[in-house]
Amino acid sequence: MVIRDIREMQLTAERIRQSGKRIAVVPTMGYLHEGHLSLIRIAKMKGDVVITTLFVNPTQFGPHEDYERYPRDFERDLALASAAGTTHLFAPEASQMYPTGYSTYIDVGGITEVLEGKSRPGHFRGVATVVAKLFNLTKPHVAVFGQKDAQQVAVIRRMIKDLNFNIELVVGPIVREADGLAMSSRNTYLTPQQRKEAVVLFQSLKLAEARVKEGVQECRKIIDEMASLIKANSSGVIDYISIADNTSLQELRHLQPGQSVLISLAVKFGSTRLIDNLIILV
Ligand code: AMP
Repeated sequence: MVIRDIREMQLTAERIRQSGKRIAVVPTMGYLHEGHLSLIRIAKMKGDVVITTLFVNPTQFGPHEDYERYPRDFERDLALASAAGTTHLFAPEASQMYPTGYSTYIDVGGITEVLEGKSRPGHFRGVATVVAKLFNLTKPHVAVFGQKDAQQVAVIRRMIKDLNFNIELVVGPIVREADGLAMSSRNTYLTPQQRKEAVVLFQSLKLAEARVKEGVQECRKIIDEMASLIKANSSGVIDYISIADNTSLQELRHLQPGQSVLISLAVKFGSTRLIDNLIILV
């Protein structure tokens, strides 16, 4: 079932709740790939009803980012989402989500100031705002997000806690292409040459993992090696490479045994910005 109207979504969600069924929601911006579908399958196990939301959210894009050219294919998304177990596809219009006069935003402090938040000012304000709105519209018991956007998961977790949303957060692992490149709707922007080179992102994360397992503790050393690998094997321009505490997202200098660390990076291939990450237990 496709729902476009926000009031209809809210009434439908309310009826589902009153019938005693559990609602699992999977927020997406569409142009679905196997990463999204894996989350829908997780949602199917977690709820009686799966609402997949499809909304390219203008407030999370910066002024010079790819909002206008973000790939869109509604019919394909509908077929893929349904086949994976979506019972309701919610695809609202931006004009209904943000009507004239709209002026309320959610700012999650602290963890939004580093990594993606630093490179993309206002991004997480847009993300937190739209996710809160989608929660109010789809009334889920469970919300499923991907580890691909590790900082987004941390931001949503913080917001759920701070704003007392009564929602279980479930995180699905990163789904990768056969060569290791993390699936992303933005991979479609890559030229064949860039697509080949982009595998170096995952290779650099695996290199970091190997160094950690070998006992290297100095983060700078690991980051420098990752950067060298990327520069030697691609035309990618590094935005950041970070080794951070997986909870606070604060950068680390030295690794301590027992620590859970988030190794993450953002690299630009032409105008296409790709992100990837790996969580490692030291
Ligand atoms: P997006 O459509 O890019 O906003 O992503 C929607 C959801 O799918 C987010 O929770 C993402 O983290 C998740 N996602 C995107 N790519 C992947 C992937 N390769 N593996 C797992 N989850 C993903």
